[in-house]
Amino acid sequence: MANNEDRGHEHSHDHSHGHSHEHGEMSELSNTQLRVRSLETVLAEKGYVDSAALDAIVEAYETRIGPQNGARVVARAWADPEFRAALLEDASTAVNTMGNVSPVGSHLIAVENTAERHNMVVCTLCSCYPWEVLGLPPTWYKSAPYRSRAVLEPRAVLSEFGVSLPEETEVRVWDSTAETRYIVIPERPEGTEGWSEEQLAALVTRNSMIGTGLAQRPDEIAGDS
Ligand code: FE
Repeated sequence: MANNEDRGHEHSHDHSHGHSHEHGEMSELSNTQLRVRSLETVLAEKGYVDSAALDAIVEAYETRIGPQNGARVVARAWADPEFRAALLEDASTAVNTMGNVSPVGSHLIAVENTAERHNMVVCTLCSCYPWEVLGLPPTWYKSAPYRSRAVLEPRAVLSEFGVSLPEETEVRVWDSTAETRYIVIPERPEGTEGWSEEQLAALVTRNSMIGTGLAQRPDEIAGDS
């Protein structure tokens, strides 16, 4: 059952891309994109879906719902110990208390990186991903090599992402499903004492919330501010 639901979101994801970028380029469409386009046309003609509503959803995920939402969540967890505790206890409920972040379903789990343990997220089956807090999944997240190697050789994968961890740090890999999605709370970089949530959020990268990256250090973003 989970598998079927999951395939469902894969398809809607493909749809998102085909639909939003390919207007006027029919000859460039792949077979899958053509089939998606045809299905949407049939469903719209029969009145089952509203193409404008689909466009609005696609546009929201492409422009408004992205890793910046997760970054705000992480920044608040760093700055506010009570929120951090609530997030680790029940991430869906905690995120839903933040008015400026899209509501999430009842499936979100936050896992916290420490010196002892580094968390990394994969969906071995397909591409389950916490869309509401991280936006669209990166292509590599959906790739077969990442999905298999993240479990078999997580340290090798991490090093390819430029992350090297001390030997003594345990690497824990979490397998997402349609029912359960994960967000990693990366370690708060040193030298950020007293920073505002907004300043902190600028250090939180998408990959750091998947566990294939670390939060940026203040000197890494010095040019931005
Ligand atoms: Fe999946």
